[in-house]
Amino acid sequence: MCTTVTRRLCAFTLVLDIQFENNSGLAAGAFTALVNGWESATEDMWSGPLGHQHFGCCTVSFDMITRTGSGRPGSHQIDVVSGPQTSFVNALGPDCTGGRWDALDTGNVAAHESGHLLGLPDEYDYNGPGGTYQNLNPQPAGQAQSIMAQTWGNVAALPSHVQTTMGGLEADCPWWCCFHWPIHWLGDAARISISIPLLVKADLPVPEEVSLVKTQPSEYSPLEALELARDGKPSSLMDAVRTLTEAGAEAHDAILVALEDKQPVVRWVGLAAGDSLGDEEVLEIGMRDDDLRLRVAAASGLARRQRRDSIAVLLEGLTSNQISFGHPPQLLADQADQALVSLAGESVAATSDSPEAKAARWRRWAQTTD
Ligand SMILES: [Zn+2]
Repeated sequence: MCTTVTRRLCAFTLVLDIQFENNSGLAAGAFTALVNGWESATEDMWSGPLGHQHFGCCTVSFDMITRTGSGRPGSHQIDVVSGPQTSFVNALGPDCTGGRWDALDTGNVAAHESGHLLGLPDEYDYNGPGGTYQNLNPQPAGQAQSIMAQTWGNVAALPSHVQTTMGGLEADCPWWCCFHWPIHWLGDAARISISIPLLVKADLPVPEEVSLVKTQPSEYSPLEALELARDGKPSSLMDAVRTLTEAGAEAHDAILVALEDKQPVVRWVGLAAGDSLGDEEVLEIGMRDDDLRLRVAAASGLARRQRRDSIAVLLEGLTSNQISFGHPPQLLADQADQALVSLAGESVAATSDSPEAKAARWRRWAQTTD
């Protein structure tokens, strides 16, 4: 088990053990800083503003153990590549699994993917009108939205997430936690620490995402992968991208077919697969797409190859409040900003600007580098 829970009296700790393999091109020190940033952002998200969540009369806090390297039994195995790419985990936790994140992933993206490692499915799809993003677990206006539905703006781990995670386990909050006895009266005998494997009960319905992701991408042909993409579900998109990427050169024709498709979601899959293959032809086609989201996705791939002709498209995306395709979805403006950082280097980037101020700063930078 790579996701476990321990209890001391009435306080649970959810422990997520992850080993990150550095294939991002970052130097060791920068990689450690990146992983430490993900750890603190994820712990803050899942422990909540109070530092703990509630489970019956018990508290639940969250501890992410991060390691670097690969192959350690007892740790989820995450391959970290240079970004932007489609980040994913191979299966929902708590069982040990793997996945691929990218070095541009924000703390919110790490917290979202960690939610999957706790066993939680996505709460969004691309089945809105015209294949658009829709939040499947919307919270009232003015309140934090679910971290499993989006990674921008005001987001949080919801009480239902804690119930689902703990309730799918053999974890029980002892009855006596609901009594206001001074807990030390219970004596040392009660002061025990137990480790409970997070077993998904056999009689729970298996989330759709699990049944889809456990199929090996290599079992599909490239054209079947495109059929999967038309489904529009995030897990289908991930499988389609992975299939086309793993098929390598064979997938090239299928990717070009995808770029002719009427659905933006399918075209996005073609672009994402082409980007993973390093196929500049695909990205150049994408830069001329009608859909701004696809132009920015293509320009992001070209920016990573230090292609300066992507700058104009990325500047266009900076003030858009559209939601870009991907897993998890993010704001288009954030995607463009991250791509510009990859082109210009961290030194030009600032973290706390408003979207408008960021856009103005990048326009100034673009003029001075002409
Ligand atoms: Zn997700």
